[in-house]
Parts: sequence; structure tokens; C-alpha cells
Amino acid sequence: MEMLSEHVSYILQELPPHVTLVAVTKTRSVELLREAYDLGLRDFGENRVQEMAEKQPLLPSDIRWHQIGHLQTNKVKYIAPFVHLIHSVDSLKLLNEIDRQAARNNRIIDVLLQAYIAMEESKFGLDEQELTEILNVYNQGNLKNVHICGLMGMATFTDSDRIVRNEFAALKTTFEQVKNEFFPDRENFAILSMGMSGDYHIAIEEGSTMVRIGTALFGER
Ligand SMILES: *Cc1c(COP(=O)(O)O)cnc(C)c1O
Repeated sequence: MEMLSEHVSYILQELPPHVTLVAVTKTRSVELLREAYDLGLRDFGENRVQEMAEKQPLLPSDIRWHQIGHLQTNKVKYIAPFVHLIHSVDSLKLLNEIDRQAARNNRIIDVLLQAYIAMEESKFGLDEQELTEILNVYNQGNLKNVHICGLMGMATFTDSDRIVRNEFAALKTTFEQVKNEFFPDRENFAILSMGMSGDYHIAIEEGSTMVRIGTALFGER
């Protein structure tokens, strides 16, 4: 608890006011999440649907649950009643299903599109053409129960700060392009989710507005 409180205050004092901390709580116990809650954290990120759906009813209802990992279409229904933000939309099929499940729950669900930025082979994320396709469909107005609020990306897992910085800078450029092209008079395309324990300083320097931090708060998993 003392360690956690030190880590929380250390990281919070480092973050500029426009950057939101998502505490990545995957694999952590409900007791530990409760401690984080008692220290004032409200944004929790999980990457597995089942784990999030199990923890959510055991913890206070004002926690904002973030789905940060790859999301299978057939699992959307388990988190649709309560999820606060889905960071990992990587196909139109998934976005359609989120829209459908949000409508069934009388909600509008906020999402980010996961952009492919890493040089390394990665299974998930949209390239620029796929981003454009999804944003065109969205702008036709058919997806009434989802709200695209920004982009998310993960940099290459590498010791090279230069590679990481280039990838984050490229994502920031894409973010601004998308904003200009698809959200010209809307304030609400405003979230750029990038940065984890190992690279959040660089991510913030390159324009992140939301960092997803697990290890630096809670220790090694
Ligand atoms: C696990 C995870 C994180 C947090 O990673 P740490 O290195 O522990 O901070 C951030 N984003 C995603 C998508 C993750 O799966």
C-alpha cells in the first residue's frame, strides 16, 4: 500500500494536467484495485473481457473501465453495459458490433481506433487506408451508438528511444490529420492514447493525452 501510494503520487505529479492516467490493472487482485481506488484512481484498464466483467461488480460503480486489449466481436456484449472507453477498435466489424450492443443497452459507447504504428510485426491495429474506410462509414451517420473520440497506438518494444519517438510522432501526425479531415468542427475527437510504463515520458512529449500504466504503478506482473 505504501509503495503503491508512492508510485501513484510520483506518476501523478509527473503528468501534465491534460494527460489522463489509466491504471492498467490486468492480472491484479480486486484487493489491489480497491487500494488504488482508495488512493483516488478511477480509470482502470483491463485487456481481457472476462477479467474485467468479473472485477467490475465487486468494485465501486464510479470506476471508469477501459478495454485496452484486443477485443473479440463475440465478447463485446459482456462489457457493453458498463465499459467507459474501448481503446482497441481494429475493424469495422468490431465497431458495428459495439454499436449494436451499445444500442441494446441504451448507451453511446466511446471508442478509440487502434492505429498500427510499430515497425515490428504486430497483429492488431489499422493502417491509414483502413482508418479512412472506417471514418468514412462513421461520418455517413449510421453508427449512432458509438462515439469515436480519438486514436490509440503501441510503439515497438525496443530499447531504442529514437524508434519509439518516431512512432509516437507519426501517430500524433495521423491524429491531427484525421481530426482535420473527419472532425473539422468537433471538439470531441480529442484523445490520443499512447504511452506505457516504459515509454510514457516520450509519449507525453510527442502529444499523448492518455497513458496506460501498469508495471510502474503495481510492479512486475
Ligand atoms: C499491459 C498493457 C499496458 C501496460 O503495460 P505496462 O508496461 O505494465 O505499463 C498498456 N497498454 C496495453 C494495451 C497493455 O496490454
